[in-house]
Amino acid sequence: MKKYQFWFCTGSQDLYGDECLEHVAAHSKEIVDSLNRSGKLPFELVWKPTMITNEVIRRTFNEANNDDLCAGVITWMHTFSPAKSWILGLQEFRKPLCHFHTQYNEEIPYDSIDMDFMNENQTAHGGREYGHIVTRMGIERKVIAGYWKNDEVTARIASWMRTAVGIMESSHIRVVRFADNMRNVAVTEGDKVEAQIKFGWEIDAYPVNVLVDYVNAVSEEDVSALVDEYYSRYEIVTEGRDPEEFRQHAAVQAQIEIGMERFLKEHNYHAVVTHFGDLGGLKQLPGLAIQRLMEKGYGFGAEGDWKTAAMVRLMKIMAEGTENAKGTSFFEDYTYNFVRGKEGILQAHMLEVCPTLADGKISVREQPLSMGDREDPARLVFTAKEGHGIAVSLIDLGDRFRLIINDVDVKHTEKEMPKLPVATAFWAPQPSLETAAEAWIYAGGAHHTAFSYDLTAEQMMDWADAMGIEAVRISDGMDLRQFRNEMKWNDLFYRFNR
Ligand code: MN
Repeated sequence: MKKYQFWFCTGSQDLYGDECLEHVAAHSKEIVDSLNRSGKLPFELVWKPTMITNEVIRRTFNEANNDDLCAGVITWMHTFSPAKSWILGLQEFRKPLCHFHTQYNEEIPYDSIDMDFMNENQTAHGGREYGHIVTRMGIERKVIAGYWKNDEVTARIASWMRTAVGIMESSHIRVVRFADNMRNVAVTEGDKVEAQIKFGWEIDAYPVNVLVDYVNAVSEEDVSALVDEYYSRYEIVTEGRDPEEFRQHAAVQAQIEIGMERFLKEHNYHAVVTHFGDLGGLKQLPGLAIQRLMEKGYGFGAEGDWKTAAMVRLMKIMAEGTENAKGTSFFEDYTYNFVRGKEGILQAHMLEVCPTLADGKISVREQPLSMGDREDPARLVFTAKEGHGIAVSLIDLGDRFRLIINDVDVKHTEKEMPKLPVATAFWAPQPSLETAAEAWIYAGGAHHTAFSYDLTAEQMMDWADAMGIEAVRISDGMDLRQFRNEMKWNDLFYRFNR
């Protein structure tokens, strides 16, 4: 991750005299210092001189465009700043924009307030003028209103910074496909050219045997050292299998992990797609290997699902460095629990769930796959932490992409599942299992998702807005009738706004 920065630009004009402008500059410096010192922002805020003329505004926005480390600009109208002054600068600006609608003073100074004070502290007035022009120009931006010393306001700025970095980093995501989409499966398909136009993703295919060459080139010493690491870090559960044979199977995954990581690094890919039915010379479906690569930050999608692979990578970037992070992974909806009061969906995959989600102990197990024709693969088995998260599905509707986001609450299952040899999560989708499943199906959501505890629906909706794609949210308080109507209106909107 680059050491991104965000610029803090304060709007004003030269009608109020030098003393007022000195106050404006001092106040905005104080706000920037205070936000940086809070320790709550994931990236540094950089104070910029007050924007008072067309020339300064245009020059500053272009400097922001050209600064590799600048991931976005946060604007604040301390006083009134006539918004025509902002048109040229905004027209040329190409990075994420936030309008921070705050005010230096928290309380009206009832005893001393006079017209000078009102002229100097009129964000309620100036923020509306500026907001008007951004709306009229149809520019996507985030508006955050509230008092700058307030912790929740700081948290919202911090959260938006992560969204902005997702917007900036999206166009650097490169996905390698070691297999095409699984035959006859519809929802994992999509238009890769449109994905590059909309999101900047590069999605390339390689024959799986190119990967096999990298895997076969890994030395025995390297494999043995990595297997030792597996054996020291995880609980080895042989379940009566021959210990030597067990270790050899684990070694196959170690060899794949090292070989695949070398391929990804040499070719600069950040996400990978496999398919259990297209393994070429690989002895096992990559399981444990993929799980550990996801833990290192790579995106993954199974059965050729490049959209989910790119989303997992994107969400790992957006969540990177989160304090007390709980994890981000690929997942698949498998089985329901319909018992009243205990409703939920069991999430898993054949093997590939990211161990960043693990609650406590992680074991290595080897069991037959019910599909494919290879050796019983080694995999990491664990259950996911409890807590709130979001499950996200990106689908291609033919004329546009739709992002579907469901707020979910991960819980422990009532009982253990000793015969299930895969990592799992059990979650209750909001607002209820029935309504969430109906809404998800009306929206056309996939069975594969990108899941994170560390991001919010608001962040993903804002990212989608910036990409110019549709986003819908399934959560507490939703109305299913309204949700279905929203998608009908969206149909019209996107027909005329491609
Ligand atoms: Mn699958």
